[in-house]
Amino acid sequence: MIAEILCVGTELLMGQVLNTNAQFISRRLSALGISQYHQTVVGDNAERLEEAYRLALSRADVVITSGGLGPTVDDITKRVAAKVAGKELVLRPEAEQMVRERFQQYHKHMTMNNMSQAMFTEDTILMLNPNGTAPGAIVPMGEGKVVIHLPGPPYELQPMFIDQVEPWLQKRSGQVLVSRYIRIFGMGESEVDQRLQELEMQSNPSLSPYCSLGEVQLRATACAATKEEALALVLPLVDKVKSILGDVVYAVNEDDRGSLAISAVEALKKAGKTVATAESLTGGLISSTMVEVPGASQVVRGGFVTYQTDTKTILLGVPAETIERCNVVSAEVAMAMAKGAREKLGTDIAVSATGLAGPDGGTPEIPVGTVYLGLATQKGVQAIRLDLAGNRDRIRTLTVKHALDAVRKACLDN
Ligand code: ATP
Repeated sequence: MIAEILCVGTELLMGQVLNTNAQFISRRLSALGISQYHQTVVGDNAERLEEAYRLALSRADVVITSGGLGPTVDDITKRVAAKVAGKELVLRPEAEQMVRERFQQYHKHMTMNNMSQAMFTEDTILMLNPNGTAPGAIVPMGEGKVVIHLPGPPYELQPMFIDQVEPWLQKRSGQVLVSRYIRIFGMGESEVDQRLQELEMQSNPSLSPYCSLGEVQLRATACAATKEEALALVLPLVDKVKSILGDVVYAVNEDDRGSLAISAVEALKKAGKTVATAESLTGGLISSTMVEVPGASQVVRGGFVTYQTDTKTILLGVPAETIERCNVVSAEVAMAMAKGAREKLGTDIAVSATGLAGPDGGTPEIPVGTVYLGLATQKGVQAIRLDLAGNRDRIRTLTVKHALDAVRKACLDN
């Protein structure tokens, strides 16, 4: 099955809105094993949209649209698709009921043009929209092809895609696809690639890499007649990857929503440990990233943002003499920060970060990108030196990732 995404909206062409819907749908399609060869963005213009539909339908089985389902005159996505299918839009009573219910739920007044949101061709399969007023739709276009209409707002589109479009696509393809997402931190892409070369050549199950800042993700996928058969192909592959790569594999997930923060918080919960942070160059980002994870309050006790040098002494008790003697960016200061945070908040673990994010302030001895993490546990205090490259944002983000990984590993190490 070949799919093609067609995003509708002049705001996308003008750069006012980032096309996150295309990214979301693409990731989900590739996890389902559905190929895509083209994507299009088109403005709210009927002629150009018609052209885009015809082209997409000439090369794909399923064309997925996002946006333009609203009640205003520039919401033309459905109307133009109906024209291409050679059919009329009619008021569908089930859709009318969906729209009315949503308006009642939101205590909003319905105008006549809202009824356009309930107009579909006779043979359209309707999809409920629990998060907005416009129903989604699967529209037969002839020759076994379909157009799938999804609303523009991501919080409406995403649940509709996962809960309604994916089961429909899977049923239609007649096979079950199972994936596992293997997340790696602390080993570069080329080394991962080199170690897994042989496994990456296989086709079912297949292994495909994807990189983000400082991380590598592998998707292991298998396709079979049943879920059990597909799992029996995928799980041994995951075990093989873990045994080859070792503890740089920090998570294996059923979807691609894992993160170092989630793994760190889960590891803390599993080990029954609490954590504190002492942050300089990251200014609270380490603790904030952990707090983004629901349930973090069970394990994240609190943290200190000690950005200017003397605040490390005032808040964490780092001896001024140590800072003077060793430099504020040093292993000794990182360790004293972590020790101070652990003692003040009475946690099992404390992690600290001091470093130079730049762009100014580097010296030949301590260049921009030099970062020391401190890790205090019941076993003692240690420092980890990181030599990071890139701009300020990159250095700070990587520092956070290394700190989270250090917390995760400290929990494994009982
Ligand atoms: P509504 O019923 O809210 O009008 P709609 O289906 O008509 O929804 P649009 O009017 O096209 O959708 O877009 C509504 C909003 O959804 C946009 O202003 C934008 O914030 C968001 N949006 C639209 N398309 C995308 C996209 N491709 N990626 C991310 N966000 C998008």
